Amino acid sequence: MNALDIAIAAKTYRKNSDTPALANLAFTVPSGQFLCIIGPSGCGKTTLLSIVAGLDRDFVGTVGRADQTRIGFVFQTPRLMPWLSARDNVRLALDPPPGNEGRAEALLREMNLGNQLDSYPGHLSGGQQRRVALARAFVNDPQLLLLDEPFTSLDAPTAQQLRDLLLALWLRQRPTVVFVTHDLREALSLGDRILFLSAAPGRVVLDLPVELARPRSPDGPAVEAARKRLLDLYPDLLSGLDKQRNAEDAA
Ligand code: ADP
Ligand code: MG
Repeated sequence: MNALDIAIAAKTYRKNSDTPALANLAFTVPSGQFLCIIGPSGCGKTTLLSIVAGLDRDFVGTVGRADQTRIGFVFQTPRLMPWLSARDNVRLALDPPPGNEGRAEALLREMNLGNQLDSYPGHLSGGQQRRVALARAFVNDPQLLLLDEPFTSLDAPTAQQLRDLLLALWLRQRPTVVFVTHDLREALSLGDRILFLSAAPGRVVLDLPVELARPRSPDGPAVEAARKRLLDLYPDLLSGLDKQRNAEDAA
């Protein structure tokens, strides 16, 4: 059964009414799949996730998913409440709040934050804040997990630790995942499948299964070979993405 059945005819922001943010974007996601969505900056990835999450209902089209689907969301920035401890940031997301008392703490310990349970976000590193955000997204055992470039602006080892944590939790709990990135190595190291979106308004230009054995390393030879093969096959499609990544790496 499909966890998601997306058909967006058009999404236009009122402030930007001459150009749609999304147009004619359709795809389905089978239950339990780890889908990566990759596309250039401004092509509508964040807009798409907001629509899939039900946070944005101002669009023309349909988002099919089971009623009462439990959704976890990891935003582009951690978005923690600065006046709450790490533990209380995660507990705040618990649904309903008094249930599963130990779950927030157990997840944070699993994320190696056992010594920071009572720390406030301002006292946590960027990587630690991301871990709290990941724990918050998992705390209700989501059936659908949406992640919006969650590990950008972290150093490479920290980003990799977070990817490993995410994969371990996904393998255990098996939510359907939609993971947005503009990093092809990251998509190839994480996904069962990659959807490539065009520049704005984002349309699906390529829908590829990733048939690499797990575990995979984003800097390992299998991912590098798959990346080279894709760049050979679709040079125009991917050159923009790689340029963007190189510019960010240089920054
Ligand atoms: P991405 O996440 O792929 O970088 P976004 O979904 O953030 O892209 O944005 C897609 C397009 O919609 C961009 O042209 C952006 O400027 C525009 N946009 C995004 N959010 C808003 C908003 N709140 N109001 C007006 N335009 C927006
Ligand atoms: Mg975005």
